[in-house]
Amino acid sequence: MISVRRVYSGALARDADKIRQVQEIFRSTFGEVASYADKIPDMLDKPFSFGYRTILLTSQTADRKVTGFSLILHFPEINSSLLDFIAIRPQIKGGGLGSALYEASRDMLQRLGSRGLYLEALPDDPSIVKDPALLKENRRRLKFYEYYGVYPIIGTAYETPIGDSPAPHLLFDPLGRVQPLNRRDCRAAVRLILRRKYGDIVSQEYIEMVVRSIKDDPVRFREPRYNRVETSRPRVFPDERLQREMVLISSPVHRIHHVRERGYVQRPARVEVLEQVLAEMGMVDRAVPKSHGGKVLREVHDPDFVTYLKTVCEKLAPNRPVYPYVFPVRRPERKPRELAVRAGYYCIDTFTPLDQNAYRAARAAVDVALSGAEELLDGRPVAYALCRPPGHHAGRRVFGGFCYFNNAAVVAQALSREGKVAVLDIDFHHGNGTQDIFWTRSDVLTVSIHGNPNYAYPYFSGFTDEIGEGFGRGYNRNFPLPENAGDERYLDTLDRALEVVGRFKPTFVVLALGYDTMAGDPTGSFALSVRTMQTIGSRLASLGRPLLIVQEGGYSLRNLRRGCAAFFRGISRVLLRGLGTV
Ligand SMILES: [Zn+2]
Repeated sequence: MISVRRVYSGALARDADKIRQVQEIFRSTFGEVASYADKIPDMLDKPFSFGYRTILLTSQTADRKVTGFSLILHFPEINSSLLDFIAIRPQIKGGGLGSALYEASRDMLQRLGSRGLYLEALPDDPSIVKDPALLKENRRRLKFYEYYGVYPIIGTAYETPIGDSPAPHLLFDPLGRVQPLNRRDCRAAVRLILRRKYGDIVSQEYIEMVVRSIKDDPVRFREPRYNRVETSRPRVFPDERLQREMVLISSPVHRIHHVRERGYVQRPARVEVLEQVLAEMGMVDRAVPKSHGGKVLREVHDPDFVTYLKTVCEKLAPNRPVYPYVFPVRRPERKPRELAVRAGYYCIDTFTPLDQNAYRAARAAVDVALSGAEELLDGRPVAYALCRPPGHHAGRRVFGGFCYFNNAAVVAQALSREGKVAVLDIDFHHGNGTQDIFWTRSDVLTVSIHGNPNYAYPYFSGFTDEIGEGFGRGYNRNFPLPENAGDERYLDTLDRALEVVGRFKPTFVVLALGYDTMAGDPTGSFALSVRTMQTIGSRLASLGRPLLIVQEGGYSLRNLRRGCAAFFRGISRVLLRGLGTV
């Protein structure tokens, strides 16, 4: 697990050693500007003499060997930042370290309220860069940033060479914000960046020439070059026909739930990436969630469990998550008295912490989901409830697997008042909580396709012989798949699952959607391609039933971006056909 920490000042012995290692990496990586390394301690300790705040993040091994760092300058007057340097220790190869540092930097800046992150990257144009090795490296870097939706600013004179060497592009990362970058902000930023980075080697006239060259308002960005086939980021004008059909509901409240321990992958950036990609596609309308009372929540979850989560979270100290560690499984009548210890009484694993904000975030996610259900009841064919934390591992009276309240089950319960509901769970992990909640019901069908529990979380449920009981017998179906299931096997299974759903003739379909089935997810082992995500979207839309999509897992930001774009492209194709336009 990669750990990334902020280093505040050389005054602490521990941090002084890290700074020394950062300087060493700096000098061996950026030989041409090696003297810059000498200034790093002062930049951290004397922000006022520099006019900006320096943020240094380091990644390190357990024995405190610094493996990489990112150095950011934050300019308070424009509340924006510059990624000045990011580097990995030369002997270390990849391993996700670059992404970890970049993502940690974004997290940090979002927390500080920064309005955007500027960064430079050398050009990837073969007519400018003749050295094949350098060209390859430049392309790799620009491709990397494209995954995050970060593109070069175009139509300006920023790339005017200063000496003989090619000048870099200026890129802008909006840090999850969807507002366009306006000319005034960009001009102010460019002036500061040029003074700061090149003030010694360029004239004031050069700086003002570049600043004045920024004419577009809002500023324009380069089209995607590397992920075009798969993410196909169509910079289209909003498609109003599709926006009438599809709506996204999300809430900023999820951000309060941010656990920074033990490599917790359920990060706020997940939602931001999804919001951003959908905004860019222009196909989906947006709605803000309304708050709902706790009635449906208490129909799905044991009221005693709901009250416990509320009470314990309110009493926990800020930034002090509690990990369940005592599990009184064989004494169900005996609840440990101490509230924090009692966590294990209601939990199925040891990696889902409670903290001061977990309840409020989970409660907000339930509101997001219920607002999605209302959209369906108002006649919208497709609603996407961007819930975070996820929900499908939360059972009637247990939390776990990063889930607290079962968002999909809550909406299935709400919709079941109006008609039959089929819940299809296509997250990589079995939706044990949803199965548990509707185990004895025949008006809500639960179907799940997932990694076989013999090797995949939650390990104790998701087998084929779990079919429900009593009235619910035959209304729960599990489709466990082998560890490395690929596209073909998956789509065959999806067809079987959709047949089960079709036979049930549901009034509504709730889709528990995880992107952790895609190749490269850190928690899943399937190898689904982007194309398959698109096919899944199309097949779901072809059911022709009102569809409420509830967000579950998926922990690779790159997959979230590409998977979500593909999935909605798949849905839109079917919708457009229905609208008579294709
Ligand atoms: Zn999952």
